[in-house]
Amino acid sequence: MKREEMYRRLREHEGPWDMVVIGGGATGVGVAIDAAARGYDVLLLEQHDFGKGTSSRSTKLVHGGVRYLEQGNLSLVMEALKERGLLLQNAPHLVRNLAFVVPTYDWWESPFYGIGLKLYNLLAGKYGFGSSKILSREETLQSLPTINTEGLRGGVVYYDGQFDDSRLLINLTATAFERGATLLNYAQVTMLSKDDDGFVEGVRFRDVETGENHTVAARVVVNATGPFTDEVRRLADSNARPMIAPSQGVHLVFDHSFLSGENAIMVPHTSDGRVLFAIPWHGHVVVGTTDTPIPAATLEPEAFDQEVEFILQTASLYLAHPPRREDVLAVFTGIRPLVRAGDAGSTAALSRDHTIRIEETGMVTICGGKWTTYRHMAEDCVNQAATLARLAERPCPTADLRIHGYDQDAARFGALRVYGSDAPAIAALGMPAQLDPSLPYTEAEVVWAVREVMARTVEDVLARRTRALFLNAAAAVRMAPRVAEILARELGRGEDWSAREAANFRETARRYLIRPLLDTAAPR
Ligand SMILES: Cc1cc2nc3c(=O)[nH]c(=O)nc-3n(C[C@H](O)[C@H](O)[C@H](O)COP(=O)(O)OP(=O)(O)OC[C@H]3O[C@@H](n4cnc5c(N)ncnc54)[C@H](O)[C@@H]3O)c2cc1C
Repeated sequence: MKREEMYRRLREHEGPWDMVVIGGGATGVGVAIDAAARGYDVLLLEQHDFGKGTSSRSTKLVHGGVRYLEQGNLSLVMEALKERGLLLQNAPHLVRNLAFVVPTYDWWESPFYGIGLKLYNLLAGKYGFGSSKILSREETLQSLPTINTEGLRGGVVYYDGQFDDSRLLINLTATAFERGATLLNYAQVTMLSKDDDGFVEGVRFRDVETGENHTVAARVVVNATGPFTDEVRRLADSNARPMIAPSQGVHLVFDHSFLSGENAIMVPHTSDGRVLFAIPWHGHVVVGTTDTPIPAATLEPEAFDQEVEFILQTASLYLAHPPRREDVLAVFTGIRPLVRAGDAGSTAALSRDHTIRIEETGMVTICGGKWTTYRHMAEDCVNQAATLARLAERPCPTADLRIHGYDQDAARFGALRVYGSDAPAIAALGMPAQLDPSLPYTEAEVVWAVREVMARTVEDVLARRTRALFLNAAAAVRMAPRVAEILARELGRGEDWSAREAANFRETARRYLIRPLLDTAAPR
């Protein structure tokens, strides 16, 4: 994928696009794949980088949602479990089966959670990941060597999926591209054009890099802008009533020693009645999340102090070595695009189901849902959008469409396994020098990110093509100058650009750090 090639497709395109999709997160890219795979011609526009929004900031679970089970929403759980199975089947290089242990400290907990989790696996049917099992105290300790043993009675183990969200997203954009879609990052939609009857018939977008404006016509426009849904709806209708109730979720990342071993912890009931996970991820531990209503969405949301404290306190109840603020290697915050439901008391109670809304202006808005169900959401959306646009009816082929990089034995590529079948080409670039001793990322990955998957900035490389910023923000800051140099060389930019890029990244990274930036000097 190259920006120049995308612009060539754009210039050479004649007449209206079958579909223009606004938003390059899981929802929008899912729609672009589905539409392109059916043979419609589709343009996707993302205002920042692909995955800059919520889709790089999830808990990294491909799951049915144990919590929705408790809420009695069995059909939602079943649908998500099926999608979990399809995603493992279509992207085995990016999704893995992970054991989650619920540690139990009260006599009733093991039988209670044991029954619920048995049902969870039953609902998956042929897409099951493995049977749940009640564990003795000793088995629990073996599974979770760093669990707090005080009062521990036993546990229950169950299985769910785990993935790398922005890595999957980038591979999804590649899949859409291979199917004929045109996708642009740094292309912000600023206006929707309407015909004489008030129906949306195209969009105007601004190339954020050059400042140039472009206008394109579309048979149907899909608004897939997640937490920004209402802003785009207001471009079409300034009186549109808000449909999103944004709520943010925070995760803290620690060294893997806090949760040694292979398994994750699931805490089914925190003091605020929610679920908390501690999950091994890329050699680190991710702990989260919270659910805090916020007035409006921003591209770079920040954790509130009380959210950080809540996660630290809750984690300290379950981990033998309670993590402290200074142990936090990175903090990241995402915004749930939850759909408003009248007077629901808390955002935790709002539906995680997706919503498709045909606006009076003919624009199709899709929001809500979850990462796990992006494919199903896209199928639903394209069915409706195609009907609305009077496109020839074509069946959805994505249930068994392989995702770019598909490889059933990617583990053999070691640190490059998330790239799947692209790994040998990255290794062949040479440049094996690591960017920082604390993370495995190499210079070759930076070159690959720019040449092949449209990385344009240091942040694109360190936040979403690799996960450095999300794993260890201080290490990412240390890597920034070298990454900026490589980028400048690849993109034909000067030293000034490179210095500015490194400084911009340092500024962004502040939001991912709890420790002061002074601590980011290279380790001796
Ligand atoms: C804390 C948290 C944890 C989660 N954990 C999980 C999990 O473990 N598993 C799971 O299945 N789901 C999870 N989810 C849900 C999942 O992450 C989201 O449902 C999903 O990522 C939403 O994707 P999206 O594409 O709708 O939104 P986004 O990813 O936010 O994408 C919307 C995009 O639209 C772009 N945009 C906005 N305005 C414009 C414009 N004018 N022009 C062009 N582009 C524009 C934005 O820049 C953004 O990139 C979690 C969510 C949160 C918040």
